[in-house]
Amino acid sequence: MVPEPTLQFGRKIVLSKEAVALFISVIMADKRHKEEKLQTAKGMHDILPQDYHYFTFLKKVVRHRFRQSGFKRISTPILEYSEVFTRPLGEQTDIVQKEMYSLEDKSGNSLTLRPENTAPVVRAYIQHGMASLPQPVELWYWEPMFRYDRPQKGRYRQFYQLGVEIIGESDPALDAQVVHLGCSIFNDIGLRNSYSVQVNSIGCKECRPDYIQQLQHYYYGKQHSLCADCKQRLEENPLRLLDCKHEDCSILAQMAPNFADFICADCKEFQRNFLSYLDELQIPYQQNNRLVRGLDYYNRTVFEWGDKSSGAQNSLGGGGRYDYLVGMMGGQPNTPAVGFAAGVERLVANMKEVGFEPPFKDVVDVFVAQLGPEAKKKCLPLIAALRDAGVRTVGAVGKSSMKAQMRLADRFSVQYCLILGEREVLDKKIILRNMRKAVQETLPFAGIVAEVAKR
Ligand code: AMP
Repeated sequence: MVPEPTLQFGRKIVLSKEAVALFISVIMADKRHKEEKLQTAKGMHDILPQDYHYFTFLKKVVRHRFRQSGFKRISTPILEYSEVFTRPLGEQTDIVQKEMYSLEDKSGNSLTLRPENTAPVVRAYIQHGMASLPQPVELWYWEPMFRYDRPQKGRYRQFYQLGVEIIGESDPALDAQVVHLGCSIFNDIGLRNSYSVQVNSIGCKECRPDYIQQLQHYYYGKQHSLCADCKQRLEENPLRLLDCKHEDCSILAQMAPNFADFICADCKEFQRNFLSYLDELQIPYQQNNRLVRGLDYYNRTVFEWGDKSSGAQNSLGGGGRYDYLVGMMGGQPNTPAVGFAAGVERLVANMKEVGFEPPFKDVVDVFVAQLGPEAKKKCLPLIAALRDAGVRTVGAVGKSSMKAQMRLADRFSVQYCLILGEREVLDKKIILRNMRKAVQETLPFAGIVAEVAKR
């Protein structure tokens, strides 16, 4: 007879063929299980419960500040026709060239996950005839954005932006008010000393072309010192050469022609007024001649809130004037507009960095503990009634051991605990325990909701 194949470990354990197969299959299943532990997609991140109070607080501040200033909230779809972005942002911008999440739907339409929100808001302004409303139309938003960016600290592929757009009126006072609004929000969340305001003017259709020509002349012959991106930008989007963070490009940018020497009289006057309004509002700012912003649609005023701790790489927010955008998107040409957007995750990271503690509102007032099947049945409507009466109530109806429930009550740091056992059910009573004072009383079950709500 042919002996069964076996595996022998040392002298003692001898496994049969079936046992070996089982052993291997268990190891493989375990390996598969480990491999299948799924993760967020690269650059995407979860907002976990322990962080949510920062986001909730920031959103409350934002809503309060914007409403107080008469802004109305707008929400646009996450998916837009790609042209909403490709047309106004400029084919040569980083966002359009590298960062858009685009897809084709079943009808062959090209759609894009919103990478920024100014173009969608302007699309909505035109589509819904908001030009016939009293001008300016003042809108605010808090929405997720998507950019296929290189993920790093403070840079995600899905992130939230808060922002405002003022469409339909041109006055440098509006630009200053927009900057002031952003500063007020940042100050409210404890960041008064964490940011600097940088401002610049990038002129208009009249004065910018001359400057761009001079800029190109300056860079011709120096291309070998530029990074690969800037070599391309020199032809397609030369203004962007000025804010490249690459060391060699940055040195060349410092010696580049200054836009201040080319700016036309009207743009100069606009900028002068803008800066004087900032002074009136007591907003300290730095004039940064190399601040240009990444998108094509800006003109005249541009500004950015730099993060003092991490430098220019991680700006907290930015914005500017975009008087040509409505026209570019099919609306009334020369409809003036100004706005800003700020990165929610970066603001939250800064709140943490400076040790700002938002109020923690997730407190629980009462914990309901039960023992036995009858008590459990009575607890379900009791918990619901307490919540309806405005009492923040937690009950661990999935647990049967009193010890486990009391441990949980401790974790929630509740002041009161309601305890219902089989005995209390029979007597139509319930125990109300004051956890802080460690005293308890037995009360009639019937009036307990009103009694607890009163305390
Ligand atoms: P932008 O629309 O590029 O002017 O960005 C406005 C603000 O959004 C920036 O100042 C950042 O605070 C934030 N932001 C932009 N891109 C990202 C990103 N990839 N991840 C996180 N925040 C971002």
